[in-house]
Amino acid sequence: MSLIVQKFGGTSVGSIERIQQVADKVARFHAEGHQLVVVVSAMSGETNRLLGLAEAIQEQPVPRELDVLLSTGEQVTTALLSMALNKRGIAAKSYNGSQVRILTDDAHTKARIREIDNRRLHADLDAGQVLVVAGFQGVDENGNITTLGRGGSDTTAVALAAALQADECQIYTDVDGVYTTDPRVVDDARRLNRITFEEMLEMASMGSKVLQIRAVEFAGKYSVPLRVLHSFKDGPGTLITLEDASQMETPTIAGIAFNRDEAKLTVLGVPDMPGVAYRILGPIGEANIEVDVIVQNVAEDNSTDLTFTVGRADLPRARAVLEKIAAELHARELRSDSKIAKVSVVGVGMRSHAGVASQMFQALAEVGINIQMITTSEIKISVIIEEKFMELAVRALHSSFGLDREPLDESAA
Ligand code: ASP
Ligand code: MG
Repeated sequence: MSLIVQKFGGTSVGSIERIQQVADKVARFHAEGHQLVVVVSAMSGETNRLLGLAEAIQEQPVPRELDVLLSTGEQVTTALLSMALNKRGIAAKSYNGSQVRILTDDAHTKARIREIDNRRLHADLDAGQVLVVAGFQGVDENGNITTLGRGGSDTTAVALAAALQADECQIYTDVDGVYTTDPRVVDDARRLNRITFEEMLEMASMGSKVLQIRAVEFAGKYSVPLRVLHSFKDGPGTLITLEDASQMETPTIAGIAFNRDEAKLTVLGVPDMPGVAYRILGPIGEANIEVDVIVQNVAEDNSTDLTFTVGRADLPRARAVLEKIAAELHARELRSDSKIAKVSVVGVGMRSHAGVASQMFQALAEVGINIQMITTSEIKISVIIEEKFMELAVRALHSSFGLDREPLDESAA
């Protein structure tokens, strides 16, 4: 017997029929003798509908009142799912955030969980009840209802799993797991049996469609084994977990991530002397613009070019900031390019395998793709390339690193 926290998202509880299906699934786990805490989102579209109602009254409602409104969506699904379970002869009980006492700070609409009181839940679980808990909400010290930010039910589930020391936190959604890359780009993309927290975070551009990234961070911090599964298809899903040293062989690369969210700026011909990078990037930081990849190279005439990337949406603002600075520094030219893409290979196996970078560059060279910038971390190598080559690059890398093949040791999953 194990204690499992299961989370069902908005589409999984989007209609009465779906709620019945979820109840059937939960009933099967119950019959196997597991202790179950089920976290639900609001029915799909409901949170947006509620936001619309609020906006129809006031453009910027007081956040406290918004939270009172938004938290109702999840209260509806907890009650309906509990009823569906009761109808199947299962003792089930709904809980909203304040009834559990999911204590948060008072940052309405984006509250952070501080503490969860697990006593009542444990008592009910020990009495054989299935608990259905409202996702996305909590209560502050003064009893005000708070919400955790959009998609926050994943975080609720992970936090409950941590507080209850659950054996596993299962996130049921509309995909059957985490893939080596986006199957819409690579036909042969494969579902991973397991991936580490670190890899999942680095795969964020893929993974965020599956799981709230904040929930993955939370799970990693408290070592909560997290599993992504399809709500209505059977299968093992993908286990997100700590690195397992006992695994016979860790694949070097877990997956290929990519995104088109960045744009590139180059300041050409500035003096090569102390303080110049700071003069350029300092004001960018002050303008609250996040910088990702940075490359600087020095020419023989004692001048240097500095290239960096920012979020694509920030490009106009970054350019405006830089135009002034480029003039002050007597830069030869300021260039920008938003037709770029970032492609990354991700894998903890990189730590113990040499040659990943050269294999990556070789695979790109073979299909004639020019690399504009390179950046590495311990478990990721990213390149910036021309946007129109992004899909070609992802396919070339996916096959070069053998991700379309089944891993050696399937049984270790
Ligand atoms: N219902 C909330 C939202 O739509 C929370 C969630 O679904 O996780 O953002
Ligand atoms: Mg959702």
